Amino acid sequence: MWNPTQLRTVTSLLSVTLCLQCVGFSGQVEAAQATVRRQGDWWIAESRNFSVWMQSTSSDCCAVIGRCEMLRNELLARWRAADGISGEDWMIPCVVVVHPQQEQFARAVPVSSRQATGCTTVTVDERRVIFRRIDLRADARDWSGNALPHELTHVILADQFSGQEIPGWLNEGIAMLSESKELLARRRAVLIEASRAGRLPTMTQILAAGEGGATIDLNLLYACRCSLLQYLENAEDRTLLCQFTREVVTTKNCDRALRNVYRFEEGLIELDRRWRKSVEATGRELDRFSLSCGRAARVSPISRLVPARQVELVKTKNEGRSDRFPRDDQGDV
Ligand SMILES: [Zn+2]
Repeated sequence: MWNPTQLRTVTSLLSVTLCLQCVGFSGQVEAAQATVRRQGDWWIAESRNFSVWMQSTSSDCCAVIGRCEMLRNELLARWRAADGISGEDWMIPCVVVVHPQQEQFARAVPVSSRQATGCTTVTVDERRVIFRRIDLRADARDWSGNALPHELTHVILADQFSGQEIPGWLNEGIAMLSESKELLARRRAVLIEASRAGRLPTMTQILAAGEGGATIDLNLLYACRCSLLQYLENAEDRTLLCQFTREVVTTKNCDRALRNVYRFEEGLIELDRRWRKSVEATGRELDRFSLSCGRAARVSPISRLVPARQVELVKTKNEGRSDRFPRDDQGDV
């Protein structure tokens, strides 16, 4: 079967190539030049920085690639303060595959990501990104407003820190800052509910590698990491968060980075204290808002609010050639 990278190397003589002005979902996206063609079950749009694969329609495919270019510009502008981020076009486009349903998505991603709504794969060779790919599920709720910018943030961070490991809590926290207001509100609701119940994890648990084991609810862990990054982003100018991220990545010492960049004299202890106070203040603010609106302060149960967690694989070593599909057991792509 065809795969995205094969398509880049094989001339598609039978496909129809159209030159379109792609406009994003909102209709407000700046037009982006792209070509769209048909290959088997797939529509493939290609622009300066992306190669988007979809099975629905050519116009959907065109709209998504317009949104990808727009989001890339937005994210670069947002994080450009972090020195090292280049606004130049990528030499190797980012492949974005939008699978129609979870079943196809699950076959295309590692086992650990099968329940997720998005998966990013980046291959780095000698500190240079040689492969970028995002897998998404078209059946996931608001995937273009949540999973797409979330995963694209991972790609951009991987570019910035190519070859260097970004701590999971930081990588995820920054990626969640790109999600929709609706999803951020749901994450906040999870956080406030836990705070009121005295169930917030410790700072050590929040910053620990991995997903906290079986003891912490994943939705809560993600909500905490998101909130922590929101706090750091809002505490000072965003450029400080960029500096902080760079120092954490290069020194692996979060405590010292907090002292150096944010001037938190007590490092992590001070961050923990300040962040918990901010969470409590947010809870009180929500209570006041609810009272003034005459509504109950509580939100809907967590289990019905938070979609499947978003997990991605970021390969930081060169694991195979850059011109091949990331997994060998693909049957549908
Ligand atoms: Zn993520």
